[in-house]
Amino acid sequence: MLDVIIIGGGASGFGCALTLASVENKFIWAKDRKYMIIDDDNSDIKKARFYNLTGVNFGISGDELLENMKTQLNNYKSVEFQNSKVVKIIDIDGGFEVITQKESYKAKIVVIATGMHSFDIECDGVEILPHNDVLKPNKICLRNDNLKIRDGLYVVGLASGAKTMFAIANGEGTQVACDIFKIWTDKPMVAHDSIKN
Ligand SMILES: Cc1cc2nc3c(=O)[nH]c(=O)nc-3n(C[C@H](O)[C@H](O)[C@H](O)COP(=O)(O)OP(=O)(O)OC[C@H]3O[C@@H](n4cnc5c(N)ncnc54)[C@H](O)[C@@H]3O)c2cc1C
Repeated sequence: MLDVIIIGGGASGFGCALTLASVENKFIWAKDRKYMIIDDDNSDIKKARFYNLTGVNFGISGDELLENMKTQLNNYKSVEFQNSKVVKIIDIDGGFEVITQKESYKAKIVVIATGMHSFDIECDGVEILPHNDVLKPNKICLRNDNLKIRDGLYVVGLASGAKTMFAIANGEGTQVACDIFKIWTDKPMVAHDSIKN
């Protein structure tokens, strides 16, 4: 069983995955943990050119940014990237079964990072609400309490109701990764890279 499956490989999904993976060799409690992003390749990032993102080339295209994000994540062997569409999440003993159009995978924790356009994944306990912080009509988010839907099930990025800014979505992914670290360690935990290493 995987430790965490992240559904959606956009700004928020990558924020979560990169933070989780970045401690893979740093702590005993993080050793041998396995993560997966499942994504059907339709991120809003691909439609954009970015002039207001901190620390990246001014005017970077969304396609190039996404490629950079994938290359960055490839530095970590604990994360696998699957290109597929998730259709169902089922509760199982000790976690969840995540069913895609091709395969099914099991994980202890699931993070939903699917954006604001629609949510057609069958899953108990998920309530779809209108996204109220966007001008465009018919956008959705999922009911959550501080990014948690219920035990083991989280939502991040625009799917949580976040404003449609890359940094906010990305930061929510990071936030939930740190919340997951806290579950594993029973104390406040972050992922800091040190220049001494
Ligand atoms: C035209 C445009 C210009 C923009 N310009 C800027 C800007 O200048 N600055 C800025 O900060 N932000 C900008 N944004 C917003 C920014 O792109 C979003 O805020 C950000 O991408 C949201 O991240 P997210 O992870 O919530 O969703 P997304 O990045 O959209 O990622 C969601 C991912 O989930 C996947 N997914 C959905 N359902 C499933 C499923 N069932 N199974 C598997 N995968 C699934 C999708 O394919 C997608 O890859 C712009 C957006 C657009 C459209």
